[in-house]
Amino acid sequence: MRCDVCANESVVNLRYFGREFCSDCFTRYFEKRVRKTVRLNRMLPAKGKIAVAVSGGKDSMTVLKLLHGLSLNNPKIELMAILVDEGIAGKDEVFKTIIGFCDELGLDHHISFFASEYGCTLDEMLAGRMDESVRACTYCGVLRRKLLNKMALDLGVQAIATGHNMDDEVQSSLMNYVKGDFDRMVRLGPVSGVVGEGKFVPRIKPLRDTPEDEVLLYARLHDVPVASFECPNSEGALRKTYKRLIDDLDLAHPGSKFQLLAATDKLIGLLKPGYLGKTMGYCTRCGEPSSSATCMACNLLASIKS
Ligand code: SF4
Ligand code: ZN
Ligand code: ZN
Repeated sequence: MRCDVCANESVVNLRYFGREFCSDCFTRYFEKRVRKTVRLNRMLPAKGKIAVAVSGGKDSMTVLKLLHGLSLNNPKIELMAILVDEGIAGKDEVFKTIIGFCDELGLDHHISFFASEYGCTLDEMLAGRMDESVRACTYCGVLRRKLLNKMALDLGVQAIATGHNMDDEVQSSLMNYVKGDFDRMVRLGPVSGVVGEGKFVPRIKPLRDTPEDEVLLYARLHDVPVASFECPNSEGALRKTYKRLIDDLDLAHPGSKFQLLAATDKLIGLLKPGYLGKTMGYCTRCGEPSSSATCMACNLLASIKS
């Protein structure tokens, strides 16, 4: 097949668009869409520090590469990588890959450890949890987010960029809808998080308008290093079910993911006025923003046998 723009050899058929693209034309199209997402949602300030929360996967590593490209045109933006070592056995190679990529791009990286911040690794927490029904990924996700926020505050960062792509966003949206969890639904969006007197660093999602398979292709075409690590605690069975459902829908009706994302945004717009009045308090233990007396992170830490 030939590229519909320049007639070079095609590398991808974007079915929702009905077009074939060669590597160069796909790259231009992909990067232009990310720039548009960043610009329209005012993700980058005129100057200041931006941190990319890097996990070593294709999405966050691609965000690091893309924002690095954008920051080259804006010397007032200081870009860096922040990462969290949860203390999962066998994950060392992931950190080596991330640090190697930061060095290649000439970016600083900052790393925080569960062991030093919480007094034990994730592996130790899981061994000592009192309630086995609380999932490993709940401990990991909640406590990692808390550390990322703390690092960003300590570093004076204005926003944390994450690797969330269109598929992640649409899956979360549908999961929240089915559960009727509109509290969480309104927190989805290109710039997420409740800004509470500077204690919560907003999250930005430059890949939110980009389907996952295109991120994968871009990472392959541009030799973005991706760390391969199969977490022994991986248990996202429910999310995988939603992924299959949405992928099947998109296969039968190309463009469905775009429509679901647009519908999500409309719904958030309708829901927001009802939720804006809800004020965020602060955790009585750690002082971080929380909608209840003690935050989820403190509750989880309290549920581990010492
Ligand atoms: Fe953490 Fe592993 Fe769960 Fe990912 S799969 S959130 S690394 S415990
Ligand atoms: Zn082309
Ligand atoms: Zn707390």
